[in-house]
Amino acid sequence: MPPRVALVTGSTSGIGAAIARRLSSEGFALVLHSRSSVAAGQSLAAELGNAVYVQADLALDSDRVLLVQQAVAAWGRLDVLVNNAGISQVIAHADLAAATPDIWHALHEVNVVAPFRLVALAESALRAAARPAQPACVVNISSHAGVRPKGASIPYAASKAALNHMTRLLALSLAPAIRVNAVAPGLVDTPLTSSWLQAQQLWQERSPMQRAARPEDIAQVVAMLVASHYLTGEILLSDGGLNLT
Ligand code: NAD
Repeated sequence: MPPRVALVTGSTSGIGAAIARRLSSEGFALVLHSRSSVAAGQSLAAELGNAVYVQADLALDSDRVLLVQQAVAAWGRLDVLVNNAGISQVIAHADLAAATPDIWHALHEVNVVAPFRLVALAESALRAAARPAQPACVVNISSHAGVRPKGASIPYAASKAALNHMTRLLALSLAPAIRVNAVAPGLVDTPLTSSWLQAQQLWQERSPMQRAARPEDIAQVVAMLVASHYLTGEILLSDGGLNLT
């Protein structure tokens, strides 16, 4: 039996790299991806063994097409797609003028249109890999900012809310062959958030778990969703309980 195959976008750093390591440790063959860090991608692929790396700019539809083509060609099948790649922009919510149309369009293109297009482009490969007892699966990495009125900026939060709603719509459209779920992290310790001191203090002082997530915590939640054969349309808020306070 050939190994099951997972494509994880944005997997050379942060949360995506942790997801790739976790799925690799569970026996998946991996397709790693990033926009530009080719050396890091090749080095992680060599470290994991059962992995290849593909570079693609997900703001470009032609690159999305090539990414899925190369991912399917690499191992001859695709069982799991993790839409992790995303961009953020920090803008004070009250500063409406700073949230320009260009920022809205850029965030929407990478955080909403790209995940949708990757699912559309991968649908036939995912259906081909699916078995009644083991459906194929998509996991979208959204954000608590897409669930609650919070987050780095209004355009970012709105893009993640759109991704959450798209998750439920796709779950309905693609069942039973393909399950579609999302993980909505709160603060996660990655290079991106190392300077977000206020947010770190908030998670330490207010969240029941008294800390931000580590990338490995989010990877574990993704692995739980991948391991299920039944859950679909769920948005798993993974914020250490901050939303309860
Ligand atoms: P990161 O910056 O380390 O990783 C982002 C990845 O996305 C990178 O690999 C990058 O190459 C890729 N990417 C960005 N734009 C791209 C493009 N145009 N084309 C191709 N790839 C592109 O950040 P991270 O913190 O690990 O974030 C991963 C995901 O988790 C993102 O979707 C982010 O919105 C989400 N998230 C992060 C946090 C957090 O606190 N770090 C919280 C909630 C949600």
